[in-house]
This record gives sequence, structure tokens and C-alpha cells, in this order.
Amino acid sequence: MNEQILNNINDIFSKKRNIVLIPHSSPDADALGSCLALYHFFIDNNNVNIISPNEYTDILNFLPGSEDVIVYENYKEKSENLFKDADVIFTLDFNSLGRARNLSSLITESSAKIIMIDHHENPDNYANIMISDSKMSSTCEMVYDFIYAVDNEKINNNIATCLYTGIVADTGSFRFPSTTSKTLKVGSELITYGVNITEIFEKLYNNFQFKRLKLLGLTINNFKKIDELPVLYTSISEQDQFINDFKKGDSEGFVNFGLSVSGILCSVLFIEKKDEGIIKISFRSKGDFKVNIFAARYFNGGGHKHASGGVSKLSLIETEKKFIVDIKQYIKENYE
Ligand code: AMP
Repeated sequence: MNEQILNNINDIFSKKRNIVLIPHSSPDADALGSCLALYHFFIDNNNVNIISPNEYTDILNFLPGSEDVIVYENYKEKSENLFKDADVIFTLDFNSLGRARNLSSLITESSAKIIMIDHHENPDNYANIMISDSKMSSTCEMVYDFIYAVDNEKINNNIATCLYTGIVADTGSFRFPSTTSKTLKVGSELITYGVNITEIFEKLYNNFQFKRLKLLGLTINNFKKIDELPVLYTSISEQDQFINDFKKGDSEGFVNFGLSVSGILCSVLFIEKKDEGIIKISFRSKGDFKVNIFAARYFNGGGHKHASGGVSKLSLIETEKKFIVDIKQYIKENYE
């Protein structure tokens, strides 16, 4: 963090503040871990609240402090009052207001100072203080740097547990190319605060229902290859979800299995969301294959070079058909 930003931050927090921390909608471990780490950091001297746009996977309920997270959809009036009183709003792990969904207008209408901490590309220009670096492994790594710069003596086991969980989740357990030697140093430092790394692994990855395993089997079985292209895609229909008691977060990681096949550079998962009238799309890639550009150009989405998301308002079948045409075009234009 540069000196001017640090001075600004120190100025802002030189007195007691009403702070609202916001993750992106359907927060994952990095988004929620960032919010909760800052919650524990600020709680002694400020009024702090985390407001999530919507529900998230109950897998993350093990994170210390998660019982205090307010879900906007369930507590609209309370959340709106907290926005009215807020002096400072942190937007964490997203950089375009659309990703805060139903909270975006509350953020723009607020007179609070907005601080963005995020590691996605192409940030929108809505924050008063923008801490944005797409080379970072995770927002949790950035929040570690933030806390370290502002007051490293306040790091404790709760903060370390939240940050370590977010970093592990966003780096695929320190595997993805965004993992640097500094990411590993941060992980190593966090362990010195007594983080139980085995327990975190168990809670994140070995904590599912039997039906989720069946759904994984079905999703893997549905994978299709596009002739002569290094691309696999699969889908989960509304019916597959119904049969397998689908819950938020159940399909986390499924799309990565496509990349386990030799020669495959891009893997895609379509999830039918009839209640929202959309197909949610997850894109994963490796090497030079940039899925963020593809997602933005063809599916109203974006994200990272190797991990992006998008949406389609067509039916599942029509979305798959469109995808096949688009990906052929994209590969022809960019990689042939
Ligand atoms: P997911 O496949 O949902 O795990 O998303 C992978 C990454 O893509 C996320 O971490 C976000 O950075 C990004 N992303 C997902 N959905 C969208 C979207 N609709 N618009 C922009 N970025 C997205």
C-alpha cells in the first residue's frame, strides 16, 4: 500500500467509525474471509457490520464471526439503516458495482467513504480509495497487507483463520499461477497465529452431503468435447439440482475437472437457474487461454484470465449452442 493511501486510511480511522463491509453476491471464501478478517480487525474501536447481498454456502459457517453476517435479502430495513449511518464502506473482492447486485444502489447513494480492496482486472471508478491489484492471488492476501500496514499487532487467530481460508480457496491450495512466493510467505506467517490448516481443509473440501458427490458424478458424466478444439463443457440442469438437493456452493470446483484432461485448455460449466431466468456460466482455463475476455465479449461476464463467470438468458440448450459457435469464433480469431 502506498504512503498516501496509508495516511488517508490512518486519518479516516483516527476516530470511531460506522463501518459496513460488503462482499460480492453469493460470496465465496475469499470474499467472506476478507470481510470477516476486517470485521475482527475493526471491531474493538468501531461499529462494524458485514452485509452480504444474498445467502452463501453454509460450508463457510465455520469462519469465526460468520454468525454476525447480515444477509440483505433477509434484513432489508436493518441493512438500509446501517447504510444510512455508515461513515466508511469497504467493497471486498469485487470491482464493479453490478457484482453487489441489490446493494449497488445503496452503495452509490451513500455519502460514506468507499474503500475498494480487490484483485480483479479493470476496476470501475466508484471508490474514494482504490486498492486494486490483479496480480494478487486473492483479496485475502491484500487484506493481510492492509492490516499489516495499518496495525500488524492486531492480527490474531480469528483474523488469520479468515485470511488463510480465503487464500487457500482462491489459490486452489497454493497451486494456481497467481500464487507467488509472497503468497506462500503470507500463508506461512498466518500459520504462526495458530491457524488449524487441517481443520480448514476438512471444512472446505471434506464437508459435503452424499448427494453432492452424486451430483459431481453426474456433472463429470455430462462433459462433452468440442471436436478438434481443446475445450470441454458440461451442465447441471434444474432437474439434476432438484434430484440431488442442490444447495448454494455445491457445484464449487466441478468445472475444474475438465482441465484434468490432457490437452484441454478450457473447461466450462452451465448451471440452469430457472428462478432467476438465467444460465450461470463458469469458465476455467490454463496457459494463454484467456476466459475473461471471452466471458466479457459473449456472456456479459468477466473475471480473471483463468477463472471467469458469465450469464445467459437463453435456455440451457440454446446457451450451449451459442457457446459452441462463439468459442469456435474466439479460438479462430485469437489462437489460430
Ligand atoms: P465462478 O465461476 O462463479 O466461480 O466465478 C469465477 C470468477 O469469475 C469469480 O471469481 C469472479 O471473478 C468472476 N465472475 C463470476 N461471475 C461473473 C460475472 N457475472 N461478471 C463478472 N465476473 C464474474
